[in-house]
Amino acid sequence: MNKKDQIKAIRGMNDVLPADSSMWLYVEDTCAKILALYGYRQIRTPIIESTQLFSRSIGDETDVVAKEMYTFEDRNGDSLSLRPEGTASCVRAGIENGLFYNQQQRLWYIGEMFRHERPQKGRYRQFNQIGAECYGWSTPDIEAELLSVIDQIFKELGLKKTHLQINSLGDVDTRKRYREALLDYLTQKQDQLDSDSVRRLSTNPLRILDSKNNDVQAVLKDAPSILDFLSESSANSFNQLKSYLDELGITYQINPRLVRGLDYYNDTVFEWVNEDFGAQSAVCGGGRYDSMVEQLGGVETPGFGFAMGLERLIQILYEQSASVIDSVEKEQLADVFIISVGEKARCQALLIQQILVANDVQVQLYCGTGSMKNQFKRADKSDASVALIIGEEEAESGTAGIKLLTAQNKQTSTQQTILQNDVLNAVTNLLESL
Ligand code: AMP
Repeated sequence: MNKKDQIKAIRGMNDVLPADSSMWLYVEDTCAKILALYGYRQIRTPIIESTQLFSRSIGDETDVVAKEMYTFEDRNGDSLSLRPEGTASCVRAGIENGLFYNQQQRLWYIGEMFRHERPQKGRYRQFNQIGAECYGWSTPDIEAELLSVIDQIFKELGLKKTHLQINSLGDVDTRKRYREALLDYLTQKQDQLDSDSVRRLSTNPLRILDSKNNDVQAVLKDAPSILDFLSESSANSFNQLKSYLDELGITYQINPRLVRGLDYYNDTVFEWVNEDFGAQSAVCGGGRYDSMVEQLGGVETPGFGFAMGLERLIQILYEQSASVIDSVEKEQLADVFIISVGEKARCQALLIQQILVANDVQVQLYCGTGSMKNQFKRADKSDASVALIIGEEEAESGTAGIKLLTAQNKQTSTQQTILQNDVLNAVTNLLESL
């Protein structure tokens, strides 16, 4: 086949190859373990939802909905979209399945998200998020708890140089008053804004605070701060959160320009930002969204959640942390490699593999044809610490050779013969003695 006819992955969508998948599993397992310790339960929702779900919750004017969604008509003519984030689906599923009636929920999810952004380091069109959502609490204690979950995950993974930024967007009234003040200020400086920001003056001026344009950021330096507009209850709640964080020893920076890209937030919003990662430095973000459940047709239920980008997190870990990579690789060692020659021996090898695996021993079987010598070479190259050898003679007598393969024992270890019936015992004892 002509090279240019070769089918390639879609731009911005990545394979996770075997060399990296143990790192992925390690990170996913660590997150799942900590979330479970804090009492969060997993929810799994479909990857495709009605387009309306996202336009009504995330907001038509947001970049995510206006420019980045993978939207298509299905065969019935319905408008569907690949999910660009996980929160809206959690809310939809919660309403549909009655999870919010007189109940509080601590949920978490993991999965692929899709956004048609311009791909670059740390920014992809298909990416994975782990997130958690809490429903039924309007108090800042749940916010402190969730930030503590994230802090714990980062600590356990050994993630460094990643700092928490927090802000409060206040309640509806706060944002209305602030919006007017910001509009007043920015309208006077309109000639210094880029076209995107000028457009947002009439659609969503708060989003201008998010602008990546340096000239716009320079204009914003003297802009009014939303924190000066907070109502008493929003300010109290924000102060309470700060004192919880102080108590927990979680350091944070207050960033009054942090508004986040999605429209549904109120009061506390946050982001964890890595010092070294360049433009795409946000590893995790989230906040409070007390009106979304009602907006999507459910009973009034406060929500608070976060989403963490796994590609970014893993890339940063690779760049930062040799110790994490070491521990991940150690976990991958196979225990036993089985060499076998002849049909009868191969059949016995399969049976022994089945027995050992049922007892939690990791076994690699040599498959295909190959001389004893070649199989030994393969065994030496494998991660296994023990080789089992079943040649034609052993197959006839119901025995097996057993030999240590670990680097320090390779030269000195001699092959012993054992009965196949004793393999489990012999292997377990040998592995325990290492
Ligand atoms: P957001 O849903 O935009 O708040 O994003 C939450 C987290 O998901 C970010 O902090 C990133 O770590 C990650 N993320 C968002 N968009 C992308 C993307 N296009 N590619 C990779 N990771 C992303």
